[in-house]
Amino acid sequence: VSGHRTLGPTSTPTHPLATAPVGMPAHSVDGFVREFLHELNTNQGVALSRSSANDQYLALASTVRNYLMARWLETSRRTREAKAKTIGYLSAEYLLGRQLGNALLATDLNEIAEKGLALCGLDLVTLRNQEVEPGLGNGGLGRLAACFIDSLATMDVPCIGYGIRYEYGIFRQTFVDGRQVEETDTWLALGSPWEFPHPEASVQVDFGGHTERYVDADGEERTRWVPSWNVLGVPYNYMVPGYLNGRVNTLRLWSAQATKAFDLQIFNAGDYAQAVRAQTFAENISKVLYPEDSTPQGKELRLQQQYFFVACSLRDFIDNELEEGFDLHNLADRITYQLNDTHPVIAVPELMRLLIDVRGFSWDEAWEVTSKCFNYTCHTLLPEALEVWSTELLGRLLPRHLEIVYRINDQFLAEVDKTFPGDGLRTRRMSIISEYPERGVRMAYLATVAAGKVNGVAALHSQLLRDKVLPDFSELWPDKFTNVTNGVTPRRFVKLANPKLSDLITDAIGPGWLTNLERLKELEPYADDPEFKASFAAVKASNKQRLTALLKTRDDIDLPDGHLLDVMVKRLHEYKRQSLKLLHIVSLYEQVLSGKLPASALTPRTVVFGAKAAPGYRMAKDTIHLINKVAMKVNSAPEVEGRLKVAFPANYNVTLAEKLIPAADLSEQISLAGMEASGTGNMKFALNGALTIGTDDGANVEIRQLVGDKHFFLFGMDEPAVTELGAKGYHPGAYYESNPQLRATLDLILSGHFSDGDPHAFDSVVFNLLHQDRFMALADFQSYVDTQALVEQRYADQDAWTRSAILNVARTGYFSSDRSMRDYLQRIWHTSPML
Ligand code: PLP
Repeated sequence: VSGHRTLGPTSTPTHPLATAPVGMPAHSVDGFVREFLHELNTNQGVALSRSSANDQYLALASTVRNYLMARWLETSRRTREAKAKTIGYLSAEYLLGRQLGNALLATDLNEIAEKGLALCGLDLVTLRNQEVEPGLGNGGLGRLAACFIDSLATMDVPCIGYGIRYEYGIFRQTFVDGRQVEETDTWLALGSPWEFPHPEASVQVDFGGHTERYVDADGEERTRWVPSWNVLGVPYNYMVPGYLNGRVNTLRLWSAQATKAFDLQIFNAGDYAQAVRAQTFAENISKVLYPEDSTPQGKELRLQQQYFFVACSLRDFIDNELEEGFDLHNLADRITYQLNDTHPVIAVPELMRLLIDVRGFSWDEAWEVTSKCFNYTCHTLLPEALEVWSTELLGRLLPRHLEIVYRINDQFLAEVDKTFPGDGLRTRRMSIISEYPERGVRMAYLATVAAGKVNGVAALHSQLLRDKVLPDFSELWPDKFTNVTNGVTPRRFVKLANPKLSDLITDAIGPGWLTNLERLKELEPYADDPEFKASFAAVKASNKQRLTALLKTRDDIDLPDGHLLDVMVKRLHEYKRQSLKLLHIVSLYEQVLSGKLPASALTPRTVVFGAKAAPGYRMAKDTIHLINKVAMKVNSAPEVEGRLKVAFPANYNVTLAEKLIPAADLSEQISLAGMEASGTGNMKFALNGALTIGTDDGANVEIRQLVGDKHFFLFGMDEPAVTELGAKGYHPGAYYESNPQLRATLDLILSGHFSDGDPHAFDSVVFNLLHQDRFMALADFQSYVDTQALVEQRYADQDAWTRSAILNVARTGYFSSDRSMRDYLQRIWHTSPML
């Protein structure tokens, strides 16, 4: 551990301002304009008359930042002074979305900025649209981290979010002839005004080499890691403003740089080109976010990323947040680390190493501290999503950590053996080290052994986690397991995304609900108020118009008026079953085409997809291709004109979600039961007044319980039925044989109708469904299309639909991430807000 840096002035300051609290620009239109022009002139170095839109955006961002600055510095001072316990949220992903709107909201500057900019001849909305969102996450997991840090700031809880400042975030998706093509996401190209680099506070991170035993001055036998290479982690700080409460927490993302020593060594040997290559090699570590969602590839660089950011983060807290001389035996009083999935789990042996090898703790002392510092959130039920690192790789990259993992495992298995003597089979099952297909470290097991608490992310998921993923562990330590149902921040996903609905809610129940979302319950009586219903329907219509305008300019997509807007947006994954939605569309289309159904019988419907596929995930990419080809055909078919439309805007991201979700009528949450851990998209839709068609999966279960069966379209097998069918032997072909409509649907795809006569274009997708169908889309097909028919019936009664939509909003306040954070605080972190 490098130790504390010298900070502050070298002699006592005498100017009164030097010891005064940090100033803030005046909260007025005039104050704002002054600050804005100052930033434009001094930071961007341009006059207003010569400024580009990017200059104006950057100056605006700096201006808003300046309003947050005093609060940020004060937050840091206050937290240190109180020696408050901090939440160290360790996450390899943060899918933040645009920052400016949220910062304006947190500082109550929106109106002032709008007026001030207008006085400068500028338009706030136009400038806001300049912002490129930092796409530092794949989907739900990264977005959850962003919601959580927002809630903690808003609840006045000290938190540092730790992660990686990827130079290239999640790829930008484009379509070429309906196929996904990935382009790099250069989110930093025009500069990011939200980050504060601190190269002087860089941390050295070691890799490789070997370990040695030696005897220290006290005659103790100890171990030393002799690494073979290293990189620097440069911290970049980001503000995480609480909503109108003066708290601004920090998100600290690490960027990798080559160390001088490493370069020079090679340079001295005379190979300049090699020295430059070394630089590139080091910087690769934070270069790119791996675009796999739920199916991690065991890439060496990914393990380097994981160790890189947790090593930096642990050291950062000890060196820079704790006071000098702090006794690390008490570390758990000052920080609790939340492991967001297994990606940061290498932090466990890293803390052990710091305490033992660097601080001289005994093994038992170190374990005592470490086992109090970590908690683990599991995000999956898919076996292929559970990370296992080969011991060969781990030993090569982090030899000391592998030794520590082995010892943790020995100690743990001894405990298992004590509790279940002679049960060798159990001991082998529970070992952190797996032996097949190669020797590896099961990171979820390591996390479970080290964590104080292990949580799933929705009630059903937590149950299945105990029963199916970690049953032996749950038997050994029943109290270790708990559930915290996910949540979403209402600041971004209601107030910012849906300002009209927010105004309507405030008109009805008064202010205060944005930080106490359960108060939405007070809307229930309004579900029977004709005037409120009319206003609610008008808000939905207006949100649809807003979306129509956006999709026209963004994607040249025409959304028809007056359609049921049926939305399925999320990562493309077989378990999420976009293919089932597709079968429904093709089935409707086929029935009209073949004359089984008059087009006039269809409820006019536009289906919107948004989905990125991992670049190496063939089936997902083929499914995207098929959706786009079906869209092309359906959208140009006169038979269904005005009745059925399919829209697939490329590059679904947070910015698009903020416009799409408030416009939706129907939310598609149709994963195979037992596969989706929670979902958070489902919560956002319900909170914005869409009705859900969904399986009994993830947080859908809780959404349905809260909104009531009458206001939720449940279909498909539940989890026990899925398990039973799997055990019995699932034969998707049998559904094809016995269900004429399903057969006609698949046959139409196989006929080449959507592929310019090529009958084999979609063999991969169709034959997979017919012969394997791991996620049982064919088994749920009939139930799904029947339930879609119920949707249409209900939609025909607009009054009843609107009533249900209002009740969805009124009854889903539970899904605020503030509530999730309260659950973590009370049941996992055992700490409370500073208030
Ligand atoms: N991607 C983005 C941009 C999101 O905003 C969200 C969710 O809230 C997700 C992915 C996750 O969606 P889901 O929970 O439907 O998988």
